[in-house]
Amino acid sequence: MSRPKNQNYKGHGLSKGKEREQRASIRFKTTLMNTLMDVLRHRPGWVEVKDEGEWDFYWCDVSWLRENFDHTYMDEHVRISHFRNHYELTRKNYMVKNLKRFRKQLEREAGKLEAAKCDFFPKTFEMPCEYHLFVEEFRKNPGITWIMKPVARSQGKGIFLFRRLKDIMDWRKDARSSDDQKDEIPVENYVAQRYIENPYLIGGRKFDLRVYVLVMSYIPLRAWLYRDGFARFSNTRFTLSSIDDQYVHLTNVAVQKTSPDYHPKKGCKWMLQRFRQYLASKHGPEAVETLFSDMDNIFVKSLQSVQKVIISDKHCFELYGYDILIDQTLKPWLLEVNASPSLTASSQEDYELKTCLLEDTLHVVDMEARLTGREKRVGGFDLMWNDGPVSREEGPPDLSGMGNFVANTHLVGCFLNLKRPWIGTPGWLSWLSSCLRLRS
Ligand code: ADP
Repeated sequence: MSRPKNQNYKGHGLSKGKEREQRASIRFKTTLMNTLMDVLRHRPGWVEVKDEGEWDFYWCDVSWLRENFDHTYMDEHVRISHFRNHYELTRKNYMVKNLKRFRKQLEREAGKLEAAKCDFFPKTFEMPCEYHLFVEEFRKNPGITWIMKPVARSQGKGIFLFRRLKDIMDWRKDARSSDDQKDEIPVENYVAQRYIENPYLIGGRKFDLRVYVLVMSYIPLRAWLYRDGFARFSNTRFTLSSIDDQYVHLTNVAVQKTSPDYHPKKGCKWMLQRFRQYLASKHGPEAVETLFSDMDNIFVKSLQSVQKVIISDKHCFELYGYDILIDQTLKPWLLEVNASPSLTASSQEDYELKTCLLEDTLHVVDMEARLTGREKRVGGFDLMWNDGPVSREEGPPDLSGMGNFVANTHLVGCFLNLKRPWIGTPGWLSWLSSCLRLRS
């Protein structure tokens, strides 16, 4: 139950389990009209609330949160889909600021080697406030490519690549003159980021990965990693000779959809398991295992970097969409973390992924109070961090005689299993798909 704080409502003091037992239905609210609405409407026992009605579960957008969160009273059992200051991780400038601070802290407390584990984001400067630092760095590496990105926009909007300071001068001038004209509108903040010039290419095309991480609490940190995700490809062959062509350099679906070569039926995505299989066939399972465990490191370190900053309100959870770019040395780079990853489907396969992702998210959020709290897998989610790394002793039968593996996440776990001799036998594909969709 939720209501504006000024109504001075007091909760009825029942324990969480009791309170849920007595509730005949879960009242949900959302402003999003996509796969999410389909999932919520079909969930047994859930009823939609419109307008000002009271709700138990709200999948809200971040603008609602900004305006209303501080004025809303929430009962113990109520859940809402963002943390109050989610932007500490999901705005490009804050994310980098927090990562840089965390890196320094690690260096002080745990040494250089540990701190180096945070070196997964490209060199980044906040503009205009770090302009002079940026220029210093720019002059050290003449000729390399940089990318300018507005800190708070998405879908590739406002992004451009550059190699000459002059391009930035033009941007500064534009920013200044619009600032002069409209005093009340501040200069839009950007980040200038080193452009990854050697992306891993498949079929000559650039792609990035979208991976989902669900955080249920920051203190203690409790995070789940989704086994499925996808690679988003550009439609045009990669080249560094045309830095103005967004179809070459930006892999956002929103950008690629407008390309003349875009096939609405084919889309521009590969599911994560297809990508893994491709990489394993090219580079062998060990290389892929290392890549996915490096990605796990990105998820955990980035969450730890904001752990003490984010307000860990027990009503909040957040489903983050991580954007990861892989370079030709198979190093993963964190580009950004999205607070509102797109839940709109671009194909049937994408629809299935997103509806499963959302159903599983609701299973973990557990409004129905069905979980014991000891689960390590729920649907497609694996508990990745539970106030410390999570080991998975259970898993598919050990047919290799190598003993049970202990892995942080299923992304890695899958690959540990790819080493096994029964890979390629008739049953292994069906095992792989059941492992990818295993229900607990
Ligand atoms: P947005 O929030 O607008 O989606 P992103 O940071 O995700 O912004 O960037 C959009 C796209 O631009 C990415 O999907 C990727 O293809 C490309 N991109 C962004 N930053 C870099 C970078 N540093 N190096 C190479 N490509 C990048």
